[in-house]
Amino acid sequence: MTTIEVPAAFATSPARALMCRECGHEVALAPVHVCEMCFAPLEIGYDEDKLRLVTRASIEAGPQNIWRYAGLLPAGQDEATRVSLGAGMTPLREAKNLAAALGMKKLWVKDDSANPTHSFKDRVVSVALSAARSFGYTTVSCASTGNLANSVAAHATQAGLRAVVFIPNDLEQGKVVQTAVYDQTLVAVEGTYDDVNRLCSEIAENEDWAFVNVNVRPYYAEGSKTLGYEVAEQLGWRIPPQVVIPMASGSLLTKVDKAFGELVKLGLVDASDWKVYGAQATGCSPIATAYENGWDAVKPVKPSTIARSLAIGNPADGPYALDAVRRTGGAMGHVSDEQIVAGIRLLASTEGLFAETAGGVTVATLQQLLERGQIDPDAETVLYNTGDGLKTLDAVAGQVGPTATIAPSYGAFAKTGLA
Ligand SMILES: *Cc1c(COP(=O)(O)O)cnc(C)c1O
Ligand SMILES: [Zn+2]
Repeated sequence: MTTIEVPAAFATSPARALMCRECGHEVALAPVHVCEMCFAPLEIGYDEDKLRLVTRASIEAGPQNIWRYAGLLPAGQDEATRVSLGAGMTPLREAKNLAAALGMKKLWVKDDSANPTHSFKDRVVSVALSAARSFGYTTVSCASTGNLANSVAAHATQAGLRAVVFIPNDLEQGKVVQTAVYDQTLVAVEGTYDDVNRLCSEIAENEDWAFVNVNVRPYYAEGSKTLGYEVAEQLGWRIPPQVVIPMASGSLLTKVDKAFGELVKLGLVDASDWKVYGAQATGCSPIATAYENGWDAVKPVKPSTIARSLAIGNPADGPYALDAVRRTGGAMGHVSDEQIVAGIRLLASTEGLFAETAGGVTVATLQQLLERGQIDPDAETVLYNTGDGLKTLDAVAGQVGPTATIAPSYGAFAKTGLA
């Protein structure tokens, strides 16, 4: 086998080459995402000897953000190329009240709403833009359901890169404003996310830009592994027996599973079994529906759900998410918009944690899996909250409000009977 040359900009990276997930064909590290032989997605292949340099001690001596795992990521090893707003090391909260409400023994919430732009996307964007810089790009771009737009615009701004961000034109105001405020270029497209994504693939063929979820997607996706590493580290270097994860493209779910596998392989944790559970909204549940029906292929759908951040009708990593869930003995579920709102309110009223719609999807799906006996209530479980409720106020705004509205006098307050 001939060795594939590593570009100079990646000399300190443990990444070795790009590897086809289906046929195994390998090419040099470059801004490409599909295999030239079979058109399947490319994934980062690592130099195992370099990965083995990472120890618990070396990680623990690192910064309090995702870059403590730089030795396990494809880009951003050097300060010169690293793009970072400090994403990562978000709280892993023990959720005793929610556990009691659900009849579970031990439940944790990994709260990624605590990231710089308030969603888990800061992890993937930080790695993607570091790779983009290593490849010499000065303009970065993406198609987004909202959170990715927020994160790309913010990270690009801080790193001195130009961002051109594409979103469907009917996104929640919170997500539009939180992208526009950075004064980058924001283009609203008359269509669904899948339309926007198709448009971006076309633009990518004509412009020399780094598209976070097109040509640099293999690098981007690896950032999600840090949500697996962190949970294991925060639990005292062990893998939780059950994890419940929201799915849009399905990438996050597959990468948490991949991260657990790597930790075992590298001897950073003791080998143990884990089960991965996937959550979607019924109004956009192509992966969970394939699971339910025992299909290997994922049938694209036209999304219609309040969980806009998960509204990808044609999920690129769907088949791999199905593989991970089936291989580990987990399950998938999907929940209605009413259940999503109830999930948001249950998490808020038990744990004092306000999640966006994706968090509501995950809580409600956990509840459903418990009711159906598909998840073990006695096994320790980690639920991933991937975004902040302040971004999707509309989902609950009509349902909650002041307990009373009164004149500014004690008499008026006394009359309410609220004392
Ligand atoms: C993007 C996103 C996800 C999951 O995305 P994948 O495409 O499955 O990796 C989950 N939650 C939120 C809030 C997101 O923005
Ligand atoms: Zn291939």
